[in-house]
Amino acid sequence: MATIFSKIAAGEIPSYRCAESENYYAFLDINPLAKGHTLVIPKQEVNYIFDIEDENYQGLWAFAKKVAKALKAAVPCERIGVAVIGLEVPHAHIHLVPINQEKDMDFRNKKSFPAEEMAAVAARVEEEFNKL
Ligand code: AMP
Repeated sequence: MATIFSKIAAGEIPSYRCAESENYYAFLDINPLAKGHTLVIPKQEVNYIFDIEDENYQGLWAFAKKVAKALKAAVPCERIGVAVIGLEVPHAHIHLVPINQEKDMDFRNKKSFPAEEMAAVAARVEEEFNKL
């Protein structure tokens, strides 16, 4: 059975898309730590990130780097924090979080933003991504 993230990448479940390529997809986390919190996934279904074969794994991080640059351009912040957790959704993903201080990466402190704000930030990230 397809994972929820495969369904998102296929457009079968809605998401706030930030970037897409042939093999990778980036979209806003629905329960973000900060505005612009983005998830980057391989379209290929692999549960555990360190089980991804090398070429696809390296491509995932190269894609995430580009998304992080677009995110930083779209959302003013000190850094883009990076995390891999994967305890909730069994489809490998990288968290990219705009942060200004260490405590902004606290996964116990999830937020929510109105749909219009989510759509607007995703559109800004995608615009910056398309410039790179
Ligand atoms: P984890 O697997 O522990 O890295 O956490 C999965 C992340 O996916 C959490 O931060 C969730 O808020 C996020 N998430 C789960 N379902 C969705 C969804 N349908 N759209 C966007 N983000 C999601």
